[in-house]
Amino acid sequence: MSRREFDVIIIGGGHHGLTLAAYLARAKVDACILEGRNEWGGALYTGEVTAPGFCHNIHANFMEFLHVMPFFSDFDLPSLGARTIYPEVQAGIAFKDGRPPVLMYRNDMIEGTAQSFARYSKNDASTWRDLKTKANQLELLMAAGLYTPPPKLKPGEPPPNPFPAFCSSFSMFGLDEELGYKSIKDCVDELFEADEIRALLYRVGIEFAGPALEWPGSAYFFLFGCILMPGCWRMIVGGTHRLSGAMVTACLKEGVTMRESSRVQRILIDGGRASGVILQDGTKLLARKAVVSAIGLKDTFLDLVGEDHLSPYYRRRVKNFKDGPDQVLGSLAMALHEPPRYKSARHDPGMDRAWYQIVGYDSAKEVLNYCRAGHVGRIPDLPAAGVWVNSLWDRTQAPEGRHSLTGWYFFPRASDLTEAQWEEVRETYNDRFLRLFAEFAPNMTRENVMADFLHTPLDQERGMRMREGDFGHGAMTVDQLMGLRPFAGCAHHATEIPGLYLAGSCTHPGGGVTAACGYNCFKVLCEDFGFEPAWRNSRRFY
Ligand SMILES: Cc1cc2nc3c(=O)[nH]c(=O)nc-3n(C[C@H](O)[C@H](O)[C@H](O)COP(=O)(O)OP(=O)(O)OC[C@H]3O[C@@H](n4cnc5c(N)ncnc54)[C@H](O)[C@@H]3O)c2cc1C
Repeated sequence: MSRREFDVIIIGGGHHGLTLAAYLARAKVDACILEGRNEWGGALYTGEVTAPGFCHNIHANFMEFLHVMPFFSDFDLPSLGARTIYPEVQAGIAFKDGRPPVLMYRNDMIEGTAQSFARYSKNDASTWRDLKTKANQLELLMAAGLYTPPPKLKPGEPPPNPFPAFCSSFSMFGLDEELGYKSIKDCVDELFEADEIRALLYRVGIEFAGPALEWPGSAYFFLFGCILMPGCWRMIVGGTHRLSGAMVTACLKEGVTMRESSRVQRILIDGGRASGVILQDGTKLLARKAVVSAIGLKDTFLDLVGEDHLSPYYRRRVKNFKDGPDQVLGSLAMALHEPPRYKSARHDPGMDRAWYQIVGYDSAKEVLNYCRAGHVGRIPDLPAAGVWVNSLWDRTQAPEGRHSLTGWYFFPRASDLTEAQWEEVRETYNDRFLRLFAEFAPNMTRENVMADFLHTPLDQERGMRMREGDFGHGAMTVDQLMGLRPFAGCAHHATEIPGLYLAGSCTHPGGGVTAACGYNCFKVLCEDFGFEPAWRNSRRFY
């Protein structure tokens, strides 16, 4: 008969839940993690969605934090199967008329990016050199910000103001502090002059969980998305699911009780305290110390706890937490005979070897219009995309002599279209994209594609339980960040219900494969319950 009582119960076996579980077990806490699906890792998923042997990371692909991620080094995840590749050309944008591409190289190859930028503007090349050099120096400071929980608010204390931190970050880069109030677009336009370079920066600025390009107050993502992150991206050999596989092995090695196909239907509240959970099959599990939710905010409070247990303040803040319109993607996948060969590559073959390939735009304005569409609930008219061909580096990801292409479109929220409209998108959008793609890379015709697949935000919402298809489990706008994520009264992971904690992406620092939400929650649990601080490491200050 399996056990029914644990010290801590964790709901959700995505990477944040797994992180927390592994640290708890290392601290000798009796931890049980429950996953609703029959698969661990949530969005750390790899599937043969087009044809047998073709691997596609239709969710997370670019691992930008592994080199600073405590979980990765503390549990030696490479030795458990999470091996990485670090592609030289990290990102590139190609053009329809075959003019030179703009390429971004990895962090230790600043000069490569500068030379690519210099084809269009020597000023931009020099700005890049300065900013990227500073970014590399500030990397550990950035990591400390990610891997530290926001401070606990004292009763009556006003909500924290994120702008002083944003502004001082700009001054650390030698830029005017007031840029901290502006938008990503404002910063790109002020600091870079070439249209082709702006097009690339607009797109990467919002690519990995960035907020709207043009919203004042989004400028922190200029530093993060345009400067700090590109250059850090690592690929997981064999597909992203190998990372979750290594995380699961770490949990098992440490002695975590792991139960998949165990969907939580209710969080038990007993005498005002979270005391356990009830599963969909009626099984009751008790938690001696804490229940930690590593799933969405509304799922936790509205579905599992119930409004009746919430104060009016919590009810308001939870109901008004925003999912999307940023971070809503449609994932495309194609099984190819051969990889794309871009017209622009005749000037620089690096374009054909860029890991992230931005295709379909001929100007910065086209990128802007594309991004605006999702914000007014529309599918972009221009079917452009960002794509990657992992099989160029990792031959295990496609059959011999063939290639697997995966990518994403920026789409509106799941609820912006009807089911029939999403069905039509699923049926037609890849063909529209291919017609455009062939104008940039002439070999990308239908004949080169053996099979294809499109996963919409609606599929994302249903399959992954990501509301509206928002991959960050909540918009990462300035009002929902740091000490305001998910809202001021519960940003320190503990909630108003004693014994109930949050460890999912709805907490700081939000979406992305950071393993930070689980790690930060563990730090708070150590403070609250006196658990052994197994996160401490003499080689790390965060
Ligand atoms: C299309 C797409 C592309 C992305 N690309 C990148 C990228 O390139 N780089 C990057 O860093 N990040 C990327 N991300 C974001 C990143 O993958 C996510 O932000 C992150 O994986 C979320 O982790 P999580 O643990 O918070 O949640 P999830 O991964 O969503 O895991 C939550 C888990 O909880 C389970 N669950 C839900 N409800 C219950 C319940 N009631 N009972 C039990 N279990 C439950 C779910 O089944 C799921 O397994 C992408 C995401 C998507 C969708």
